Amino acid sequence: MINPMDSAVFLNKKVDSLQRSPTLKITSLAKKLKKEGKDVINFAAGEPDFDTPSFVKQAAQRALAQGLTKYTPSAGSSELREAIAQKLRDENHLDYHWENILVTSGAKYSVFLAIYSLVNPQDEVILSSPYWVSYPEMIKLTGGKIVILPTTKEENFKINPLRLQKAITQRTKLLILNYPANPTGITYTAKELESIWDVIRGRHIFVLSDEIYEKIIFDERTHISFGSLEGASEQVVTVNGFSKSFSMTGWRLGYLGGPLNVIGYAQKIIDHTTSCANSIAQVAGLAALRDGRDWCKKIKNEFQERRDCIYEGLSSCKNMSVVRPMGTFYIFCDIHKTGLSAAEFSTRLLKEQLVAVIPSEGFGLENFLRISFATDKEHIIQGVQRIKNFVSSL
Ligand code: PMP
Ligand code: GLU
Repeated sequence: MINPMDSAVFLNKKVDSLQRSPTLKITSLAKKLKKEGKDVINFAAGEPDFDTPSFVKQAAQRALAQGLTKYTPSAGSSELREAIAQKLRDENHLDYHWENILVTSGAKYSVFLAIYSLVNPQDEVILSSPYWVSYPEMIKLTGGKIVILPTTKEENFKINPLRLQKAITQRTKLLILNYPANPTGITYTAKELESIWDVIRGRHIFVLSDEIYEKIIFDERTHISFGSLEGASEQVVTVNGFSKSFSMTGWRLGYLGGPLNVIGYAQKIIDHTTSCANSIAQVAGLAALRDGRDWCKKIKNEFQERRDCIYEGLSSCKNMSVVRPMGTFYIFCDIHKTGLSAAEFSTRLLKEQLVAVIPSEGFGLENFLRISFATDKEHIIQGVQRIKNFVSSL
């Protein structure tokens, strides 16, 4: 007899295999403690600390006043799809027209739609580790097989094309790329991307390129969209959104660009799940794309200054070694010399020094921490000092 109270037996088995998101969980714990009046430094947050720019909010207010409060087409409003296609053509050299674009409720949903539209049970999906926490869980929901491609600190956590080649089999359906990368902060040069494409070219393999951090890229680096590489566009699905570039995490607005067959499949899923992205957020997103260039430059410069500050601070911390971020607002720290696991380190750090960080286990490797510098410099300096105090106390 099946016991309905036994979730693992009675409820959906694929969902049973999922983990809760550690990034969301720890971030909300840090916010809760702060709300309760605790002097917590939140280095866990996967979201910019800036408010949404006022020109974006004003566009949303106008949309409300004009009564734009109804369903939009499930693929998104035609104005926003056209503006996104234009942005991707002009800035990213991607050969997309409005039909190639879907607007979604957050970029996370775009990632899910791409994976779900492409992957059949038993298909293999190559994912380099460390990875963003949600990719493996989404693959599990399709019944696809996760093939982990480990990267090393010595190789700056970048995919090694030879090892990629070895990981490919007859069943490989998809390679997931994310750069600038969460959680390592690394990104790729054009030459490195070409050598990855050289491995994929000519095979029946898709690439999902998650470029959500494209605007947060440091020094003289430029972001190159994988789909803009010669001959790649028919095999690449590009994901991007508004959360990171425009401080719009709560608005839930993202998008997906790709070949028409994949877009058509993903649109069917939207039709029967979310219906469309939030109509007011779509108007706000249009304003962000039209008027947001200076804003993007401003936040990039601010994050770069913070990157310098936190990198300098943590570099001199005993028993820790850090990877210098090339983009994003995350810095990845090797803590194996402290003798603590990442889970132990982060739990004790929060308890003893009120600093929230994300332990690396959820990113698919041990002994590292992801420290977010999406907080002001004063807090960065204080937080680094508390981390140093903690490490000294061990
Ligand atoms: N991809 C990566 C790598 C991320 O870190 C995030 C974090 N939120 C997302 C996609 C999804 O972003 P959102 O759903 O907020 O647009
Ligand atoms: N992407 C952010 C992070 O990695 C936000 C949380 C989430 O969506 O997982 O922290």
